[in-house]
Amino acid sequence: MAASLGAARRLARKAVHCVSTAARHGNLHLHRPAAQVLVRSKSVSAATVDLTSGDTHMRPAPLDMLSDEEKMMRDAVARLAAEQIEPLVREMDEKSQLSPSVIQALFENGLMAIETPTKYGGTNSTFFVANLVIEELAKVDPAVSVFCDIQNTLINTLIMKLGTEEQKDKYLPRLATDMVGSFCLSEPEAGSDAFALRTQAVKQGDHYVITGQKIWISSADLAGVFLVMANAKPSDGYKGITCFIVDSDAEGLSIGKKEDKLGIRASHTCTVNFDQVKVPESNILGQFGQGYKYAISMLNEGRIGIGAQMVGLAEGCFSRTVPYTMERKQFGRRIWDFQGMQHQIAHVATQIEAARMLVYNAARRKEAGLPVVKEASMAKYFASEVATLTTSKCIEWMGGVGFTKDYPIEKYFRDCKIGTIYEGTSNIQLNTIAKCIEREPK
Ligand SMILES: Cc1cc2nc3c(=O)[nH]c(=O)nc-3n(C[C@H](O)[C@H](O)[C@H](O)COP(=O)(O)OP(=O)(O)OC[C@H]3O[C@@H](n4cnc5c(N)ncnc54)[C@H](O)[C@@H]3O)c2cc1C
Repeated sequence: MAASLGAARRLARKAVHCVSTAARHGNLHLHRPAAQVLVRSKSVSAATVDLTSGDTHMRPAPLDMLSDEEKMMRDAVARLAAEQIEPLVREMDEKSQLSPSVIQALFENGLMAIETPTKYGGTNSTFFVANLVIEELAKVDPAVSVFCDIQNTLINTLIMKLGTEEQKDKYLPRLATDMVGSFCLSEPEAGSDAFALRTQAVKQGDHYVITGQKIWISSADLAGVFLVMANAKPSDGYKGITCFIVDSDAEGLSIGKKEDKLGIRASHTCTVNFDQVKVPESNILGQFGQGYKYAISMLNEGRIGIGAQMVGLAEGCFSRTVPYTMERKQFGRRIWDFQGMQHQIAHVATQIEAARMLVYNAARRKEAGLPVVKEASMAKYFASEVATLTTSKCIEWMGGVGFTKDYPIEKYFRDCKIGTIYEGTSNIQLNTIAKCIEREPK
């Protein structure tokens, strides 16, 4: 243990050196080599180490205590978001379009393959770091954040966990460099009741033929690959659901209507039609008939990412509002000086901190291999409620100007609503939490 912590420490120091050298040279961008060095040392965050005394005794650490590499990754992404994303947020929202330069920046900085091993061109970092990245991006643009979140927590993870060597070799390097992936579960008749899906995969020789329609598919019109849940043996009910890898150029696959949404408008959301799409049997991801298990387990973990997105959104909105309350004067005083304002602001700050701790705890538990079903649902449920409260209050604290597009607050207000809907609505999270409580030993 002492040896591995020593190695981690050396790597962390090397990473500090790389990043600070880049900063000294006036280049604040997170360059790939630095990112790779800084994340290879992985997380030492579940315990603290006294670096000054050389004491490597492990003891529990505060949840928000970050390792050197976690801090550096967070700070580097914050800089990238401020420099390369923030100037484009308004335009991307108005056009309902992710800027190609933003997509390129995410790929070039290793943020679309955070946990993917280096041998596949990924950043080789941790699940916790992925959540920090999602949080940082959401502070600036929650739409960019979910684009990055889905690629990392659903697409790459599914292929890394379940893929054959051929599938990993074929898709992971592309997903790390220039290929977007989409996760296709929802259908017109299958939302919260996802396993009611009707898309079918019929075996014909050594192929399957997929027919059906998926809706609400994030990034569909940008995707090079789709992970598609289809029922390959309807007589077995949901136990026929199987996950297929489908390339975007497969004959019969077409992208339909792009939704005109309330929020996260720069995240593209489309219908995907499968009209007798032929895929080889070798494109089954994981085991035949296990798709329902994969979908549940991915979404259980993915919910932590949506919790991180909602925490980042709330933090971004809050931090852009509070300074205004310290400048704006009414009745001859700063509006901040009214206790009625201070108590509300303190209350919201406390809620955000609580949501952040739920998300960090769920992410740390996942990394430690502990059960997270209840914790992930709690984190997502609570964080989306807190984001809703925060954005609504921030508009109120800014008065009329908060209600206009001159400030970014109204966008956070629109963007937050999705947190209570996708990857399981708030009711579904509460159902899951209640089920977990019922099963706990009494
Ligand atoms: C912007 C956006 C992006 C999305 N991205 C993707 C994606 O990339 N891939 C994908 O597969 N899907 C995606 N989705 C789909 C998303 O996961 C579903 O919208 C979500 O699961 C809810 O399903 P639904 O919209 O059909 O709502 P419904 O299931 O019809 O729910 C409507 C209401 O009924 C309530 N309800 C339903 N069942 C119960 C119950 N048992 N108990 C209590 N209340 C219940 C819900 O809580 C909700 O309030 C996306 C959706 C949106 C809006």
